[in-house]
Amino acid sequence: MHFEFIKKYRRSVTIVFSTLLLFILLDLLFPLPKQKEFSKQIQAKDGTLLTAYLTSDDKWRLRSDLEEVSPELIKAIIEKEDNWFYWHFGINPVSVVRAFYKNLISSEIESGASTITMQVARMLEPKERTYVNKFAEMFRALQLELKYSKEEILELYLSLLPFGGNIEGVKSASYIYFNRPPDKLSLAQSIMLAVIPNDPNSLRLDRSNDQIIIKRNYWINKFKQDEIFSSTDLKDAVDEPIEAHRYEVPVFAPHFSYYIKENFNGDELNTTLDLEIQQTVENILLHNVGKVFYKGITNGAVLVMNNINKSVVAYCGSADFYDEGSFGQVNGITAIRSPGSTLKAPLYAYALDDGNLTPKMKFTDIPTDFHGYQPENYDLKFYGNVSTEFALVNSLNIPAVKLLEKVGLNNFINLLEGCGFNQIQEQKNKLGLSLILGGCGTNLFELTRLFTSFANKGNLYPINFLLNEENNDGVQIFSESSSYLIAKILSGVDRSDIVNFSYYSKLPKFAWKTGTSYGKRDAWAIGFNPNYTIGVWMGNFNGVGSPNLSGGEVAVPLLFDLFSAIDYNSDVKWFEEPEDLYKRNVCSESGLVPTQYCKRVVEDFAIKNKSHNDVCNIHKPVYVSLDESTQYCTGCLPSSEYKKVTYAVYQPELTVWLSQNNYSYKLPPAHNPDCNSKFAEAGPKILSPSEDYEYLVEENSEQEILLLAASDSRVQTHYWYINDKFYKKCKPGERVFFNPEEKNLMITCLDDKGRDKSIKINVKYY
Ligand SMILES: [Zn+2]
Ligand SMILES: [Zn+2]
Repeated sequence: MHFEFIKKYRRSVTIVFSTLLLFILLDLLFPLPKQKEFSKQIQAKDGTLLTAYLTSDDKWRLRSDLEEVSPELIKAIIEKEDNWFYWHFGINPVSVVRAFYKNLISSEIESGASTITMQVARMLEPKERTYVNKFAEMFRALQLELKYSKEEILELYLSLLPFGGNIEGVKSASYIYFNRPPDKLSLAQSIMLAVIPNDPNSLRLDRSNDQIIIKRNYWINKFKQDEIFSSTDLKDAVDEPIEAHRYEVPVFAPHFSYYIKENFNGDELNTTLDLEIQQTVENILLHNVGKVFYKGITNGAVLVMNNINKSVVAYCGSADFYDEGSFGQVNGITAIRSPGSTLKAPLYAYALDDGNLTPKMKFTDIPTDFHGYQPENYDLKFYGNVSTEFALVNSLNIPAVKLLEKVGLNNFINLLEGCGFNQIQEQKNKLGLSLILGGCGTNLFELTRLFTSFANKGNLYPINFLLNEENNDGVQIFSESSSYLIAKILSGVDRSDIVNFSYYSKLPKFAWKTGTSYGKRDAWAIGFNPNYTIGVWMGNFNGVGSPNLSGGEVAVPLLFDLFSAIDYNSDVKWFEEPEDLYKRNVCSESGLVPTQYCKRVVEDFAIKNKSHNDVCNIHKPVYVSLDESTQYCTGCLPSSEYKKVTYAVYQPELTVWLSQNNYSYKLPPAHNPDCNSKFAEAGPKILSPSEDYEYLVEENSEQEILLLAASDSRVQTHYWYINDKFYKKCKPGERVFFNPEEKNLMITCLDDKGRDKSIKINVKYY
């Protein structure tokens, strides 16, 4: 019986098997052609098309998913082209037979037999209409059906349909002819888009609208007869006038879109950009640039990052992309600029972790020479003895340079390198201490991203540009405690560098750091709170500085406007105080752990197992005569008639500066003139000139070099020698000048206790 069955059907089985084998062989020999290149589409977070780009063959060929296309359009196309589409296997045998029969009697090749799948095959590989090619198309259709689902084939079809000129696909057509996405088409528009591909070269919207109306209405009638759509909808469709003309493909967030196009693969790129916030930011930026235009500042850039999902929310590379006068096409977010003082915030964070700093610890902000480098403050003033907080909020330069020297230039460069600062990595061997005042190159993206770490407990994350690109491998670059302290210091309402807080009624709380680059070329403000990090740059793309440019005056108002617009009235829950942070009392004058001699203490923060425990080095007991006119050491202390008094004894250079700047404070009295004790401490400290520094002096000029040295309070007199020849005698801290006459000079300062210090300098005449 079984045997009989096989015998009976052997022929058929053989035919089926050999056909299958033939198909497999042909499939191997003639694989499906490569898919066509599609236009790159950049989409906002909500799916809105930001912009699209021409393909390399200059086509608008926008791929569209089925969900993006109005169901009426899909229905009309299937009804019109291939109503058995969902049931056949690429070829519709009924219509093939019918077409074959028709061709026999008319001798013309009828295209009606083409299924949607076969049409896709033809669009992928356009060929002349011959019988052979028709068979090739059928073979391709089978291949397509095997490889792709019906939905995928339909998507390809909708994405490749020709609409005349360089427009392909229903999405391209609906943007270019109707200025809307393909899911917002009216029924009349959908039917038109179903009709045009039959003859795209003569049925051009905006050129042959009358013909299109005739075709459209023909199909409206047919759909009415076949009851495909409701008759009221179809009636409205007949009455709808054609209002098509050629629109431009949308262009939103041009710098952002271009950046995405250049840096990411794929033809439909769904980004994290929030179009509503983007447009708000664009308006605020343009308005703020307008406000400072008269100051000679023509451009600006803004980058907004979401700290919670670590993504780009708004991205404005310039105030006006189309303004050639201000170089609007330069992207201010990726342009390499000097960061001014913005890197001070990460430096202080680093030093807080290093244990070098606590918020109330004091720095000396006085003129200082770092091996020939003599930085000044932005306002050209010096502030003497200042706290870490004050130095950071007011962006003082000397403390920052001192701090960088203390933590190590290379350590800090390594940190920045690890945080993706590319230009700094390239320049690393050429960078010096001026790095912290902006003597390096970076960009708004790198800076803004770095500041997101303060909002993420010290973790630096990659920033997402695309949706579903969740990237959560952060790197801990600062501790949670130091990030918290930076946020606390930089968010105070008592900040002197702003603007009137009361002007902004709904301002959310945030912290910020400003920066102004050398030559007043770049104004920066980078702000953050738990929700957002916003980076702002203002300046000119041609690199010209403006005397009126400063981070505080130009960039901060923009930052404030942005926070109050984007995070308006938001209920920001500020960062929680980390467990590793504790409070302790410190000496109010040194900011160090108080000793029994410190009179006043203040509360300060310290980080467990990190912050130093250095004790106050200022308040010291001094033996003095009963009238406090003479100071004694243990070597010359009389047996009676003395007492122990606590004085603030500053470093010699600060003492000199304080007295020069008329700060009155109680100095210890002069040391007993009859004292013969050996002095254990080092001799005078030469503050000027600076060793190994080449002094440029105009030949035959009266130009003089400053001699200045500091000593402890026991020293009454300094004796200056130049090349071992006595020059002048003065008090410690007194300024003495001399006119150099030789190229190589040895300068010696001798104090009245017989201790001396020498340095060598070179003088170059010009
Ligand atoms: Zn003290
Ligand atoms: Zn003494």
